[in-house]
Amino acid sequence: MSSDSIEFNRPYMTGNELQYIAEANEGHRLAGDGPFTKRCHEWLEIHMGVQKALLTHSCTAALEMCALLLDIVPGDEIIMPSYTFVSTANAFVLRGGVPVFVDIREDTLNLDESLVEAAVTSRTRAIVPVHYAGVSCEMDALMGIARRHELAVVEDAAQGVESTYKGRKLGSIGTFGTLSFHETKNVISGEGGALLVNDAAYTTRAEIIREKGTDRSRFFRGEVDKYTWQEAGSSFLPGELIAAFLWAQLERSSAITRTRLDAWANYHALLAPLEVKGMLRRPHIPTYCEHNAHMYYVLLSPEIDRQVVLDVLKANGVNSVFHYVPLHSSPGGRRYGRTHGSLEVTDRKSEQLIRLPLWVGLTLAQQERIVAVLTKACSVTGSM
Ligand SMILES: *Cc1c(COP(=O)(O)O)cnc(C)c1O
Repeated sequence: MSSDSIEFNRPYMTGNELQYIAEANEGHRLAGDGPFTKRCHEWLEIHMGVQKALLTHSCTAALEMCALLLDIVPGDEIIMPSYTFVSTANAFVLRGGVPVFVDIREDTLNLDESLVEAAVTSRTRAIVPVHYAGVSCEMDALMGIARRHELAVVEDAAQGVESTYKGRKLGSIGTFGTLSFHETKNVISGEGGALLVNDAAYTTRAEIIREKGTDRSRFFRGEVDKYTWQEAGSSFLPGELIAAFLWAQLERSSAITRTRLDAWANYHALLAPLEVKGMLRRPHIPTYCEHNAHMYYVLLSPEIDRQVVLDVLKANGVNSVFHYVPLHSSPGGRRYGRTHGSLEVTDRKSEQLIRLPLWVGLTLAQQERIVAVLTKACSVTGSM
């Protein structure tokens, strides 16, 4: 890599992280659920408009908590897209659940809600919409299907912090929502995540499952005079150092989102001519969705060789990457899950997609350079 090469992602620090970590250190409170965790919980509950927010080690951990909360047993089916991160499926597979993969929409690359109802069987327990690139799934339709068939909805909002659907924050609409604060996401703590509980019937059990299966949270609130083992759980809570880091990020989350949206809009304007020429398609955002600029991707036109484009970008110092290998075609997906209907859109789109560098601090000049290289790369391979 040359010295002026542009990395795909660069984690952004607000500048307050180390000060808050020092405070946690000086307060001699390092285990979970201390003052910084409480601040993060309150912020999430108020800002996201949810009943209960609980920090976890990761979005993966929050999804695993959902599988426990829903008492998933072997053979239970969970409807989800194949075009997603492995944890969406793996969390349920750990409990013996069977992921049922349904195709995605052409426009947003989100679960195609029009195909979901036909995939419901007597074993179906939940639907897991994944808000790809921080752009919402069609939640009204999905919630309607869930209601008709008495299914839970677990929003995988790992990429969706600060995004909304018809004015509601992603993760606040389903039975549960899960967030990720992994360093590749918008708001970060290295590794980190949160479970959002939107159905009050699950809040007590969520606390118990997160605290090794004990009612320790109630004990700390003075609601019981000792804490004991209640049910099967694990340790899902992060320590205070992580929460202190996260607090510095949550405080600035709207500014982070605004900055990312500016960079996203730059790409969208710079790439319009390439879309007109038929070289690629830009992301589509439904009018009733506010997104968080988690990602800028393009879908290359079918006659363009994606690997050649990625190689040309790389040779010119631009680190661009493709995204998911669809789960249904991975060894794990074939072993643990099944498909419902054709996954033609998933297969086709996943092979056309590339993600461009997008991080706080990326300059307009760098974006212009990226688009210039991409234009050249598409012209080269398009004419072959
Ligand atoms: C990042 C991501 C996850 C996993 O998040 P972690 O916090 O790394 O566990 C799950 N689902 C989706 C859609 C993601 O993008």
